Amino acid sequence: MSVLVVGSLALDTIETPFGLAKDTVGGSAVYISAAASYFVNPIRLVGVVGGDFPNHGLAFLEERNVDLEGLQVVENGRTFRWSGRYRYDLNERDTLSTDLNVFELFDPKIPEKYRKSRTVCLGNIDPVLQRKVLDQMEKPRVVICDTMNYWIERKNKELLETLKYINILILNDSEARLLSHEPNLIKAGRVIRSLGPSVVIIKKGEHGALLLTDQMVFSAPAYPMENIFDPTGAGDSFAGGFVGWLSRTDDMSEENLKRAVIYGSTLASFCVEKFGVEGLRDLTYLQIQDRFREFRELSRFDLD
Ligand code: AMP
Repeated sequence: MSVLVVGSLALDTIETPFGLAKDTVGGSAVYISAAASYFVNPIRLVGVVGGDFPNHGLAFLEERNVDLEGLQVVENGRTFRWSGRYRYDLNERDTLSTDLNVFELFDPKIPEKYRKSRTVCLGNIDPVLQRKVLDQMEKPRVVICDTMNYWIERKNKELLETLKYINILILNDSEARLLSHEPNLIKAGRVIRSLGPSVVIIKKGEHGALLLTDQMVFSAPAYPMENIFDPTGAGDSFAGGFVGWLSRTDDMSEENLKRAVIYGSTLASFCVEKFGVEGLRDLTYLQIQDRFREFRELSRFDLD
């Protein structure tokens, strides 16, 4: 059950109403790999960092049994940096800066032993790079892709090209509206499915997620949380939990896609309880199972 994860490895500067963290380890590939590692091992990671990426960031991934053979280290380069500020309503985030740095010249090389991976998860990076990765793969069974407004606005044409090769697209509500030019999320999902992916997942922050296929609309609740410390990485942890479960079970049925969405929501809920990647450090499979089951109770009711 091999999973290839491609995405950013970052030093994030995050402001929330509760505090500020400077140059903390993050990035889409880091959150996705860590979350998925609770379901499948090892995760194969492809990405790039500069010489300034801290050893404890690599150690975190190694402890989660992430294979780093596909990680390029540009010794004299600077790691990708992102900074964001959350408003009082933590669903609202302003990106303050995005410095691509080593990603500007990144040319992903997929190691020979990664090329037959059955599941590919393209984390949020330049859609041109996502496509370059796919070009090197040998018939993956499923390709899952995440993206964000930054790329929808700046590399729209390239993203539309990449989408033709995607099976499952994960994005948030505002991004779905931006990409589809359609305010209604059900219709937006339909428009996006016509661009390539047969399955679209639209995340709605603390309001849950929608899973849309040609047969169904499944509305997953979010876990009601009293203490959200830092929402950064929630979307990527969702993708990691989702991909991890799909890969572990190797089952693409609609019922199993629903379960995967709930596992994604479960991992996202753990992520936001602590700052940066800390929420994904020391979970147990039992903890994950317990919270997964709690989701079921959230919206179950008797008919009479
Ligand atoms: P999320 O909160 O799940 O949307 O993801 C947050 C992570 O995405 C942070 O750790 C950032 O480093 C990373 N990120 C933000 N913008 C970009 C971008 N334009 N390209 C790649 N990664 C990004």
